[in-house]
Amino acid sequence: MSRPNDKEKPQRSCLGCRETRDKDQLLRFVLSPQDEVLPDLDARLPGRGAYTCINSRCLENALRQRLFNRAFKREVSTLPPDRIVAMIASLMRERILGYLGLANKSGKIISGGALVSDQAGPDSGCRGCFRKYRSENSCVGGCSPDPM
Ligand SMILES: [Zn+2]
Repeated sequence: MSRPNDKEKPQRSCLGCRETRDKDQLLRFVLSPQDEVLPDLDARLPGRGAYTCINSRCLENALRQRLFNRAFKREVSTLPPDRIVAMIASLMRERILGYLGLANKSGKIISGGALVSDQAGPDSGCRGCFRKYRSENSCVGGCSPDPM
């Protein structure tokens, strides 16, 4: 089923599985001046890009089959799959921590079970997993509900 805005979103193909997806749902890679394949998480670096799904399986498939050479139309160098996956995970971790830091500074982060439950309100569902109650005796997640 297609949405009305689907046609307006730029599409790209994953090198690893060949699926076509919205460009913003894929991970972009660019070439360094030394022809080394580097991740471009912001998708803002200049030059031609190549894309994979955001999972290690597609990226490893693209690296193993040397599909970045075809995408960039030349011999390129890549890190070993485990190192580039670790690099991307580290970059994403840093990004998430940065966002959490900003949210924390602006007072938008609460932590601790009781504080979160209070913030979520009495109709927020199970206090164990925060999912909705299936019945009075169990929630969708299978927890035994606490007496509220
Ligand atoms: Zn893929």
